[in-house]
Amino acid sequence: MSQGLHLLGIEKTYANGYRALRGVHLRVPERRLTTLLGPSGCGKSTLLRLIAGLERPDAGQIVFRGEDLTHCPADQRDMSLVFQSYALFPYLSVQDNVRYGLKAQGLSAAAQAERAAQALALVGLGGFEDRMPHELSGGQQQRTALARALALQPALVLLDEPLSNLDANLRRHIREDIRQLQQRLGLTVLYVTHDHAEAMSVSDQVVVMQEGRVVQIGSPREIYEQPQTEFVAGFMGDSAVFEAHCDGAGQIRLGPLTLDLGVPLRQGAVRLIVRPQAWCMAPAGAQGLAGKVERSAYLGRSTETWVLTALGSLLVISDQQAACHAVGAPVSLFLSRKGVSVLLPQTLSTPQTIPVFQSRRHP
Ligand code: ADP
Repeated sequence: MSQGLHLLGIEKTYANGYRALRGVHLRVPERRLTTLLGPSGCGKSTLLRLIAGLERPDAGQIVFRGEDLTHCPADQRDMSLVFQSYALFPYLSVQDNVRYGLKAQGLSAAAQAERAAQALALVGLGGFEDRMPHELSGGQQQRTALARALALQPALVLLDEPLSNLDANLRRHIREDIRQLQQRLGLTVLYVTHDHAEAMSVSDQVVVMQEGRVVQIGSPREIYEQPQTEFVAGFMGDSAVFEAHCDGAGQIRLGPLTLDLGVPLRQGAVRLIVRPQAWCMAPAGAQGLAGKVERSAYLGRSTETWVLTALGSLLVISDQQAACHAVGAPVSLFLSRKGVSVLLPQTLSTPQTIPVFQSRRHP
């Protein structure tokens, strides 16, 4: 329990009676980038503010590197928080913004200058020292805020939706920069976002939140390929959910398809979560799930096709460079092994998903 940040049973109800956090348990490992991911209002920023010491929990413990910080003042936590709005001091130059916290720490002027220069170089803002915040672009302002946080050499860097005020192109650049810096410097970072693509692209560990609770923790791949609830599946991108039947011998029937599982499952109803990439499309034949192409779009790296079947209208994403299928063309769909997971009945106290290892055509 000594390494990393541990949150144990964190509860927070605001003065207006709103229960923003409901028994949050979480471990943030050292030298990794962890994202808190969830829709607006699910409690991500509240949790970040509690960790930073800007709010107090009603119950639970915040333990960092074996030390209980629950009642420790914000300025003694060895953490830096970067806000969505950058929160730069408008009347201070870039350099003075970055030196501000160092001065407060009592560093000599020479040490302040050296650390500020290092931090600005890290974020690619060498040469911008004398600019004022209003003379910077949005991306440069965010980099300055990042440099200000990094200059303090904190044990934990907290980023609250750091890219949300930037346009799409810059968001991508800066998120790549943040990830590279984190890996190069071995920083421990907790990063809040509501954007699943952003979380997938930068994280070692993703923590999905819903209505004040942690609903799943895992690597981007685990969260995407083995969502433990329909909410997580839906939030992480397109997916279709089907009622299916397990025969008790490890086989699941979905319409005309039979899926072989690598593990035994109790007989009965299950839910299948299927990513659009799990479908394989073939020319119409006697086998597979029969369908008709409703529409198809070539998107460069992939082709998206909507197919009307007895199981509904299904989105099929294929990375083959195949030409778009003509509207109305009859096709057969099969399920490949990737991108299908089985959601066991909700009656289980711990929801569990099992990836499907194989699928085969129903004879
Ligand atoms: P997120 O960061 O996931 O968007 P927040 O942590 O900001 O969510 O907010 C979680 C919930 O708590 C929201 O419903 C929000 O309206 C509410 N909330 C946040 N701050 C306060 C506050 N100071 N007083 C009352 N309710 C608040």
